[in-house]
Amino acid sequence: MIKPKTEEEIELLRENAIIVSKTLAEVGKAVAPGVTTKQLNKVAETFIRDNGAIPSFLGFEGFPAAICASVNDVVVHGFPSDYVLKEGDIVSADIGTLYKGYNGDSCYTFPVGEVSPETRKLLDVTKESLYRGIAAAVAGARIGDIGYAVQSYAESFGFSVVRELEGHGIGREMHENPGVPNYGRPGRGTHLVDGMVLCIEPMINAGGRAVYLDRNGWAVHTADHKNSAHYELTIVVRKGRAEQLSTFDFIEKDGTIKF
Ligand code: MG
Ligand code: MG
Repeated sequence: MIKPKTEEEIELLRENAIIVSKTLAEVGKAVAPGVTTKQLNKVAETFIRDNGAIPSFLGFEGFPAAICASVNDVVVHGFPSDYVLKEGDIVSADIGTLYKGYNGDSCYTFPVGEVSPETRKLLDVTKESLYRGIAAAVAGARIGDIGYAVQSYAESFGFSVVRELEGHGIGREMHENPGVPNYGRPGRGTHLVDGMVLCIEPMINAGGRAVYLDRNGWAVHTADHKNSAHYELTIVVRKGRAEQLSTFDFIEKDGTIKF
């Protein structure tokens, strides 16, 4: 039995979600050809700490940085490094915060300068698949409805869904039950109830769905080395329509970056 969050807990999760959303926007402003992923990490860590929060990924099971910076064929969990971003790359920034005892966790995949039309399509479809998943996350539905919405949309464009990683509940712990797979069958899995807080995070590959773990034990790559995109938002299951706690508005409506 998964206990829904109280409204007080949801307010604390919302505060985290806003800090993470704003951090993603700061990172987005810094993304450009010639910038290293370590520099992006620095931007994020500084912003999180300046806002009184703790970068929760740093030290989590030994992870060495404040953000996961996953470039091109890296699906998730890339280490920020001295890699210099170049025109046409994509970089996903996955960011977590701990603030007032609760967690925030969201992710955005940024194009670096101009990307190919195929890559632009991958980004657009992955983000839309997330919104389709959110639309399915209503009280009375089931976890499989979310996965089905994501999967059926992404696959209709010939893209594939990573199965080895999934979304999750969030609260005092960064990863809580239930798991939220990005594939599934309608009407199956955990029942969704009002007040459940979930991170929905499709990881969609341009090519096949097979992935492998890097020798560093963290980074997950696509087996065919084609690009992979990843977007994540935190939502509250509600009756009729889910409520978004984190948002991409700070990235997309700020006016300085056009996506
Ligand atoms: Mg995340
Ligand atoms: Mg997550």
